[in-house]
Amino acid sequence: MKTTKYQKILSRLAIPLGFILGFIACTTPTKEPSEVPNKANGKPTNFIIIFADDLGYGDLSTFGHPTIRTPNLDRMAVEGQKWTNFYVGASVCTPSRAALLTGRLPIRNGMTSRVNRVLFPDSKNGLPQTEVTIAEQMKKAGYATAAIGKWHLGHKEEFLPTSHGFDYYYGIPYSNDMDNIIPFRSAQGYFDFWKSPERKDIKTFNVPLMRNTEIIERPADQNTITRRYTEEAMKFVTENKEKPFFLYLAHNLPHVPLFASNDFEGKSPRGLYGDVVEEIDFWIGELLNTLKENGLDKNTMVVFTSDNGPWLIMNQEGGSAGLLRDGKGSTWEGGMREPTIFWAPGSIKPGIVTDLGTTMDLFTTLSNMVGVPIPNDRIVDGLDLSGTLFEGKKSPRNDMFYYRGDWLYAVRVGDYKAHFITQEPYGSEVIRHDPPLLYNLSVDPSEKYDIAKENPEVIEQIREVMKAHDEKMVKGPDMLKDREGTSSK
Ligand code: MG
Repeated sequence: MKTTKYQKILSRLAIPLGFILGFIACTTPTKEPSEVPNKANGKPTNFIIIFADDLGYGDLSTFGHPTIRTPNLDRMAVEGQKWTNFYVGASVCTPSRAALLTGRLPIRNGMTSRVNRVLFPDSKNGLPQTEVTIAEQMKKAGYATAAIGKWHLGHKEEFLPTSHGFDYYYGIPYSNDMDNIIPFRSAQGYFDFWKSPERKDIKTFNVPLMRNTEIIERPADQNTITRRYTEEAMKFVTENKEKPFFLYLAHNLPHVPLFASNDFEGKSPRGLYGDVVEEIDFWIGELLNTLKENGLDKNTMVVFTSDNGPWLIMNQEGGSAGLLRDGKGSTWEGGMREPTIFWAPGSIKPGIVTDLGTTMDLFTTLSNMVGVPIPNDRIVDGLDLSGTLFEGKKSPRNDMFYYRGDWLYAVRVGDYKAHFITQEPYGSEVIRHDPPLLYNLSVDPSEKYDIAKENPEVIEQIREVMKAHDEKMVKGPDMLKDREGTSSK
């Protein structure tokens, strides 16, 4: 066999290198020497973000659900960090996804509107090309990138994942209830539909399944979709085990309509919703096994969270925000605080983190970890959480802005949250509060006890934070208002 230049150099270095490696092995007994080259400064180099749809804060056993069994996520929470004050950028699907992918509040990136709107199958628009996505950041660092699952940021070719930094896309491009026979023309007709027998039939929901920019199945068989998304994910990580990868795995479930495969339907004491969540959990376990089998479990960070709170109006088919108030569509905590887990064995310091974090912070954290600069021609709302994840430091985030559409309804600073506007998720009445309602979320996570009267100085401080935020606000174009149809939900 030919001796390469590198082998010659290595043979010359054998003694000093052996000494150095031995020294590393002695000083870091928890790490195998062979793992070291796979990590940058002891931190993971591969990233998987798992995003559930409409899963509530209280819907995992590790977050307190009494009858939904999620052993794999529970194990991830014990081995990694469970974040109990982690937020999304909006309380409905489209803007929440835009926030995660761009690190920016939806009001900045155009994925919001005056009302709590999302994209529809007859929407012409999507996430603007001018936005920089987390996938584009990872591409700059040479990563293989894939989006698997729900997209919901525009289904025309120029808005699909393959036009936003992802090498590969496989999934349903919007919500699993869309593009169907449901009478969208009136809200009442829509909700009555869920009592009808057609809701059990996948053919009722004529949603497409796409590979890259092509439709490969229609209607998508939603009974098997969680498994098939995971199989695609397992294939992607296996194929890319030799190079760094970024995977965005956005399950369409447990958004209504709920579908579970034969192996899971009827198994959970929580009913169909529990079956669906338990199936997602099972397949997360399989994905972790694939990481392990490929030696990727020690250099991959997996983040699990959800896009918005539970769809409470769906009654028993909707999830639960646990002790948090309200759900999807709301700026109460249940709408925007999500059950969140960071998992990276050997890197992340295990524990329960009560500091603040948001999905927008993933953009900044991952960009910094791979050494790609944050765009400096725009405001990025994300902050770097890696000090908290890897060194046990306090989170740099101390505030949270709760938008509904393009209006700011509430602001959290530290433990305190002030609601300046409240509104029912599906109600039209806008209630303005002056003074705002004030809650101490550390003491009163359910937002039951208004303490505004006793704390005028706290309100003043929150007003100052809000004023500074408003002064710097540059609003993006409204990309959601332009639809071919006229209905709205
Ligand atoms: Mg959602």
